Amino acid sequence: MYSLDTPIIAVTGIGEKIALQLQKNQILTVLDLLLWLPLRYEDRSTHLTIDQLQVDQLATFTAQVVTSSNYYKGRRSIQSATVKDETGKIKLMWFNNKWIIDRLKKDELMLFSGKKNDRGVIVQPVVETLSENTIHTDRLVPIYSQLAGFKQGSLRRILKNIIDQLAEADDLITKLDPTALNFLNALKTLHFPDQSDHVIAARERLALEEMLQLIKRSHQIKQEWEEKNKSYQLTISDPNFIPSSIPFKLTSAQQKAMAEILLDLTKSSSMNRLLIGDVGSGKTVVAGIACYHTINNGFNAALIAPTQILAQQHLITFKNLFPNLPIQLLTAKSKLTTPEVNDQPTLYIGTHSVINKLIQIKPALVIFDEQHRFGVSQRAATLDLEIQPHTLTMSATPIPRSLMLTIFSHLKLSVIDQMPEGRIPPQTWIVPAAKRQESYQWLSQQLQGNQTQTAILVCPFINKSKNEEFAHIPSASERFDQLKAFFAKQQPHLRIALLHGKMKKKDKNQISQQLFAQQIDLLITTPVVEVGIDVPTASIIIIEAGERFGMASLHQLRGRVGRAGQSSYCLVFTSKESGQENARLKEFSQNHDGLKLAELDLQRRGAGDLFGLRQHGLDNLRFTDWTNLSLISQARKIYDQLETEANWQSFLPIQETSSSPVAN
Ligand code: ADP
Ligand code: MG
Repeated sequence: MYSLDTPIIAVTGIGEKIALQLQKNQILTVLDLLLWLPLRYEDRSTHLTIDQLQVDQLATFTAQVVTSSNYYKGRRSIQSATVKDETGKIKLMWFNNKWIIDRLKKDELMLFSGKKNDRGVIVQPVVETLSENTIHTDRLVPIYSQLAGFKQGSLRRILKNIIDQLAEADDLITKLDPTALNFLNALKTLHFPDQSDHVIAARERLALEEMLQLIKRSHQIKQEWEEKNKSYQLTISDPNFIPSSIPFKLTSAQQKAMAEILLDLTKSSSMNRLLIGDVGSGKTVVAGIACYHTINNGFNAALIAPTQILAQQHLITFKNLFPNLPIQLLTAKSKLTTPEVNDQPTLYIGTHSVINKLIQIKPALVIFDEQHRFGVSQRAATLDLEIQPHTLTMSATPIPRSLMLTIFSHLKLSVIDQMPEGRIPPQTWIVPAAKRQESYQWLSQQLQGNQTQTAILVCPFINKSKNEEFAHIPSASERFDQLKAFFAKQQPHLRIALLHGKMKKKDKNQISQQLFAQQIDLLITTPVVEVGIDVPTASIIIIEAGERFGMASLHQLRGRVGRAGQSSYCLVFTSKESGQENARLKEFSQNHDGLKLAELDLQRRGAGDLFGLRQHGLDNLRFTDWTNLSLISQARKIYDQLETEANWQSFLPIQETSSSPVAN
């Protein structure tokens, strides 16, 4: 028997080598593996007789092996078999699949599943031993994304084996809400559903669990925070003071947020505040002013960015906005033994590596930029410090205010709900495949006439995806080569660069520096630019395979252009010319409010389509998202009942460290 916390190495069929690979995917226990949910299901549940098989229809049938043989055609080996039932015979064929011949014992009854082609042959059918309890045929068959080198079939077998031997576990939620599914049953259903509509309910059960865990965590953090809340108390003589180096007037929303933050900093208890504002609303300068006062009070401050590129950019921004502020960029390698900690109060900027150095820095203020998991990792990061610093978390994740306060009881909220004056929303065009060349011509003209503008082209993948489903999607490296060739003829002087997460650090740094120094005209990149990058000259963004991005990501990407108030353009390439995906992209092109887009996205998706969240990239929630309002209120009601159940613990593991939201 297995339980959810059984170590993965104890599972039959998983040896040390695979266990190590799984570990790399943060899969350590049976539960972790069970949470590796199918990407989709293939419907092999239609069971027919051989005479009923239609061309191109996926179906399963039971048949007896008549003959089978293996032969070579050039280099490839071909396996063929004839099978029969009482209604007729059919020919099957495989390529380079010699072991299949051993499985096809003459006269044995087996299950076959596949599509008949127009020559009446089934190519590459799936074969399974006859049984009542099939996993590869005769049912909805789960299809997983690549994991630890597993073949689809072996992963399916291992998961089935686990599910069949999983010990029961009490689920309090089903007692409180009789309509809720049992958590283990939900997991089982997600892997091997009997009907596709069961999947939805199961998925919702996981989403509910995640929401409940989050609310519980929020309460715990609030308690911990209150227990240890003596902090650095600042003196701020003029809270309205704006350093003269800031070249613009703050919007009234920025001023209000600033006032709320500064007031907190003058209290003896530590601040734990979330600053939310749509992409481009100007959160950075507000955070900067908080740092400015902290340092003027003789304390250090730390700013933690999700990517190195963003950290570098913050360094440049802060140096511009606050030229007199001592600032130091930290990398994972920077050593901070006592002599190296600056003796003057300093703002330290870096990625998560800064967290390990907080003990030396002893900051009075820690700022987390572009975080989407609120409070958990932040709390963990500052837990070891003797004096609890004030913390400010910034995010563009659109969450209605009332909801925020419901779920995140441990946070105070500041909202920047206004854009800097004079911003013109980018014009958005959805571009069908047929107009691609035309768009390149347009791009070429745009770049020709204007030396001081940057165009950014975003591809979902760095290299060609191994997944067949995505094989048609151009990768960043391919596009780079292609566009270089295209422009070599038209505009040989155009400065084109490639930037993605797998490049050498040195090269990455160089490119991002050139980017900020306006030495690049066209940047080909992956969603690394999604979060927070601020290139004022960027006025054109082109998104490849728009249908691959969630609404929130699209909105983030579009937020990269027009940030200096200039006219700007967002082109979304898509191969989908109609249907739901296209409707969604249309919605995106007509709407510029992040919160509104998130709501529209949810309405359109309904509860029926909860998949693909893992690819969302924007937040670290695995099974739900912030805009699922009805789920949040359901969770809230259940949680209020749970609170009296002192020992309630979520089935889901707590993710203490927030991984970077950027996929590649
Ligand atoms: P985000 O909220 O997405 O982090 P940023 O802080 O990067 O946005 O600000 C976006 C851009 O707007 C920056 O170039 C910044 O200098 C500029 N900006 C911020 N506040 C104002 C303002 N009040 N008036 C004009 N420009 C502003
Ligand atoms: Mg930002």
